[in-house]
Amino acid sequence: MEIAGSKQKTVLLPKPRGFCAGVIRAVDIVEIALEQLGGPVYVRKEIVHNRYVVDDLAARGAVFVDSLDEIPSGAVTIFSAHGVTPEIRKEALNRGLRVIDATCPLVTKVHLEVLRYSRENYTVILIGHRNHDEVIGTLGEAPGSIHLVSTLADVEALENVQPDRVVYTTQTTLSMDDTNAIVERLKQRFPRIIAPASSDICYATQNRQAAVKAIAEKADLILVVGSENSSNSNRLVEVAQNAGTTAYLIGSARDIQSEWLDGRFHVGVTAGASTPEILVEQVVGDLKERGFTCVREVELIEEDVHFPLPAPLEGLERVVS
Ligand code: SF4
Repeated sequence: MEIAGSKQKTVLLPKPRGFCAGVIRAVDIVEIALEQLGGPVYVRKEIVHNRYVVDDLAARGAVFVDSLDEIPSGAVTIFSAHGVTPEIRKEALNRGLRVIDATCPLVTKVHLEVLRYSRENYTVILIGHRNHDEVIGTLGEAPGSIHLVSTLADVEALENVQPDRVVYTTQTTLSMDDTNAIVERLKQRFPRIIAPASSDICYATQNRQAAVKAIAEKADLILVVGSENSSNSNRLVEVAQNAGTTAYLIGSARDIQSEWLDGRFHVGVTAGASTPEILVEQVVGDLKERGFTCVREVELIEEDVHFPLPAPLEGLERVVS
């Protein structure tokens, strides 16, 4: 398919984009809890990092809170896809809350790795972004034996690491390229460092980054639909920019600035793993009105990943369409 040389104004839609299996599961959990268990259903933190999703669920009866203190004893309480610390789990138990855990199974996998190695007296290096909800949860699994690094400078500054018993793990939504550089430096400093059995950067993050990189070769502008606090959406912007293409993060079609489109003929539109397809459709509709009447979906990687619902909701999923 010849695209790059064409002067027809075209929207390129890489596939995969948008919702991943962990986000679908987390949103399903809130919807099923609302429909089957009745309200109010409390959700600790944003269930996923997308404003549209949170506002939509709130309009249907979900109550989003920052702290468990805001939840009445005994109420149904959902933990977000990003996971929580053991202290939060304990507090919920002590408060008698009816917990449904929407933590993505791939985040839980990282927690279990951290727990296992810290119990075996390893120093754990977590590569991730400070203050991200997922990182806060993972750090809480082993506060005495885990170090967070976000940059190469953080690797240089590491102290009190046991060089013969050290392992690294990562936040699930990092840039693969940036992380590789940090991992290489860690290996230089600690040649015996243990790597995770398989990358902790999740399949959805990897696939969306690979897809946007491929589209960036053909597009002269990339729009990434996602919220500002969405880690993987921000990484998609960086990946496109690192590939040499102008790229912007937009929350919705309303954020598109006309001057961005001046002289552009091929606009790639993708979405972070927490962004619903309806927002992509609205962006495409807006671009069509601005003359980008040709729309091409480019499937780069096939995805077929599904996660089962947690035990409290098993068997209820068929009731909800
Ligand atoms: S981005 Fe990856 S780790 Fe995060 S919810 Fe989706 S599948 Fe799970």
